[in-house]
Amino acid sequence: MPVKKKSVSVKKKVVKRKEIKPVKAKKVLPPKKKEREDVEVPDKKKVAGQQYTLVRGMRDILPKDEDKWFSLQHVAEDIARAYGFGYIETPIVESANLFIRSVGKGTDIVDKEMYVFDDRDGNKVALRPELTASVCRAYINHGMHNQVQPVKLWYSGPMFRHDRPQAGRYREFHQFDCESFGVHDPVIDAELIAVGYNFFRDLGINVEVQINSIGNLEDRQRYLVELTGFLRSRRGQLSEESKKRLLKNPLRVLDSKEPEDQAVLEDAPQILDWLSDESKSFFMKTLEYLDEMSIPYVLNSRLVRGLDYYTDTVFEFFVPDNTEGGQSALGGGGRYNLLVEQLGGVPTPACGFAIGIERVMIEMERQKKEGMIGRKDTQKLPVFFAQLGEQARRRTLFLLEEMRRENTTVHFNLAKTSLKAQLEIANKLGATHTVIIGQKEVQDGTAIIRDMESGIQEIVDQRKLAGELKKLRRIDVVSG
Ligand code: AMP
Repeated sequence: MPVKKKSVSVKKKVVKRKEIKPVKAKKVLPPKKKEREDVEVPDKKKVAGQQYTLVRGMRDILPKDEDKWFSLQHVAEDIARAYGFGYIETPIVESANLFIRSVGKGTDIVDKEMYVFDDRDGNKVALRPELTASVCRAYINHGMHNQVQPVKLWYSGPMFRHDRPQAGRYREFHQFDCESFGVHDPVIDAELIAVGYNFFRDLGINVEVQINSIGNLEDRQRYLVELTGFLRSRRGQLSEESKKRLLKNPLRVLDSKEPEDQAVLEDAPQILDWLSDESKSFFMKTLEYLDEMSIPYVLNSRLVRGLDYYTDTVFEFFVPDNTEGGQSALGGGGRYNLLVEQLGGVPTPACGFAIGIERVMIEMERQKKEGMIGRKDTQKLPVFFAQLGEQARRRTLFLLEEMRRENTTVHFNLAKTSLKAQLEIANKLGATHTVIIGQKEVQDGTAIIRDMESGIQEIVDQRKLAGELKKLRRIDVVSG
């Protein structure tokens, strides 16, 4: 049967266009900025002619202090360079969580002192209260773990803490900061202490290095159980502040200067008795290296530095004869092997310190150090020290100190690698010369100086090394 074709009729939809009526042009205003409720707009008439004073805890730096201020910065720069630290600058404003995560809840800095606010995008930001966390962030962000380790960085700039202002304690203050990443070796800790110690020595200021070890995380946890038990048993004798600290951060009770706490702390268990063999040996080696460099120190078993991120070595630089009250800690630091990983980086041991510039200035005035001793400009290209064997390493440490006193920029490889690998590092760093110390040189009292460009080597008496290097490098500079 033939199929009847259906005739499909397609109805065309006619869309009627709306008639567009001409509209009278309206004045378009820019979107009104949301005004922050917490920012009061002052009545212009009322504030006309009104004088503004400094915000509490802030200070101006005036021309009368200009010489001291700049020469202090120069001494910091010279010493950092002499020890082979590279300059870094990080922003004042960082994400607040960076410090909450690193410095830790339960610390005065995070709980009471940090300037935290929401910026106009609603991000929770902070004015940095310290620099270590920022430098760790930068180390991670810029993949510095791919560089030759240790990566040594220094900085000098403002920090902010909403603390109770008093002599030597401000809400904006400046720190000179050195950090060394990537090597877990006591020689790094000793070197950092040497940088700080020699910074004060260059300024002609007497300081006392106090040092302690708070062990690794497990050591500390075991010690904390013991300490907390002890402090609870003597709770009634503690100051009100220490009672609060006992709940939040019992280690901080050890920091207390209150006389009633001092009496209790006399009998407190000592952290050194709770260190693992590994941490104990690390600490002993650090002290031996300090001895090697003739840096005097005092053991202080109550020094804990209160921040969450420290492991093993902690140290502070104190004014030794501060009888006038005021703030006697001029700087401090320690090792923080877990922090980079906690902040999302690859596991990276590290160590560093910070020195308070304002406190150093006050101390200079007190010790009447008007003129700076300061260092002369150091030549930027370094001399590299390669060493083979433990004895050579110790000898090298001693020689390095001598070179630094002569203002020679020196680098030193701490990993126990072959001479070839060390020479490659020297090349990467652009060293003009490498000084090689092996077992034989230790015994003979000699050193090999290798010209990195020509490869020519000469043997010199270790006592003449500084002079010889100066001579060779001067010739290089003239001929270069
Ligand atoms: P800290 O990391 O808290 O031990 O600080 C290191 C150094 O910075 C201290 O030893 C002081 O010299 C200095 N410092 C810390 N807080 C202040 C402050 N509020 N005012 C002035 N200097 C400070």
